[in-house]
Amino acid sequence: MNKETICIQSGWKPKNGEPRVLPIYQSTTFKYETSEQMGRLFDLEESGYFYTRLANPTNDSVAQKICELEGGVAAMLTSSGQAANYYAVFNICEAGDHVVLSSTVYGGTFNLLTCTMKKMGISCTVVDPDSDYDTLCQAFLPNTKCVLAETIANPALVVLDIEKFAKAAHAHQVPLIVDNTFPTPINCNSFQWGADIVTHSTTKYMDGHAMCVGGAIVDSGNFDWAAYPDKFPGLCTPDESYHGIVYTEKFGKAAYITKATSQLMRDLGSIQSPQNAFLLNIGLETLHLRMPRHCENALKVAEFLERHEKVAWVNYPGLKSSKYYELAQKYMPDGTCGVISFGLKGGRKAAEEMMDHLKLAAIVTHVADARTCVLHPASHTHRQMNDEQLKEAGVAPDLIRLSVGIENVNDIIADLEQAL
Ligand SMILES: *Cc1c(COP(=O)(O)O)cnc(C)c1O
Repeated sequence: MNKETICIQSGWKPKNGEPRVLPIYQSTTFKYETSEQMGRLFDLEESGYFYTRLANPTNDSVAQKICELEGGVAAMLTSSGQAANYYAVFNICEAGDHVVLSSTVYGGTFNLLTCTMKKMGISCTVVDPDSDYDTLCQAFLPNTKCVLAETIANPALVVLDIEKFAKAAHAHQVPLIVDNTFPTPINCNSFQWGADIVTHSTTKYMDGHAMCVGGAIVDSGNFDWAAYPDKFPGLCTPDESYHGIVYTEKFGKAAYITKATSQLMRDLGSIQSPQNAFLLNIGLETLHLRMPRHCENALKVAEFLERHEKVAWVNYPGLKSSKYYELAQKYMPDGTCGVISFGLKGGRKAAEEMMDHLKLAAIVTHVADARTCVLHPASHTHRQMNDEQLKEAGVAPDLIRLSVGIENVNDIIADLEQAL
């Protein structure tokens, strides 16, 4: 099926007489006739639902839809995008291991890897996503277990050279994990370019209406864990907490996601509530309609800003003037995202003042919403970073992050014009 049809039809497949619309399985638990049957579920001998922390039919239907949109083999929902990135890395890393991290990742992901996971004994080397292949390769160590980057960085809007990153990861026998939150699978299918695992903050375009915090992880099924049993013992050697199951032997291409659900979700419990999954599913049904409009509006707004005398610079990968235009054309030819970053000639102070005069665009800690919104990362999301870290993350102190919504673009431009 094509993506538009997947958005509408995939996931929930009602049988005869069942509800047409995905039901909210608002139940922590599921009933069985015999105790033996329940025992087989706990042994992962049989698949079935028994406790919502491990699996829930509403969540599974929505994960299935995201899986098909990305073209993967297995997927899971998480309570947030943060949990998705944490699980995606922690599923294959333990104390003593190392991660190669793109410097322009979202501030929350940067903190997760450089501070919190460091305390867990997992170190990382931060790399410039624009560095050439050989420089990139120098970041790998014998204990490197994965590479983590964003297909379009939030808020730096750096477009990742996915093939370059995949090639470097695979040359060092580790998977490439990409956070595909900004372009969504409507605009970018990174598996076709060599990425192995995709993560999402579904909080953004997938939900699209600023209703639910959520995340997702999708596995392409392409990375051959079993070829490197010494690198990935968690997947390739018996799991003592599950009666000695070897995930790669028992679950094949679904090994990675099965381990993440049956082990990490069991023990860490960052599940998405079925209520939120239900709302996320409604958002997904119109994702294919919203993304093109976000991109169309953003391009017009970016062109308006580029022409404005008070604007010092504009960064939008859909603009021909963008350093990332060529990469965007290659990896996301139908459009990138609705997010623009720009700076004013008056610098940081002018940025704050202009934002205070916006009427339609709201100042919110959010992005990728149907409603136009705006944020000043240096004083909001990234305020814990020092100037050096801000620079590495591609966030200038005067950077305004404008998330262009799906209103009439003339109204968005008029609002910016009066505020400027
Ligand atoms: C927002 C965001 C996250 C974090 O997601 P939450 O759902 O807020 O936890 C991770 N990565 C990217 C690219 C994001 O934009």
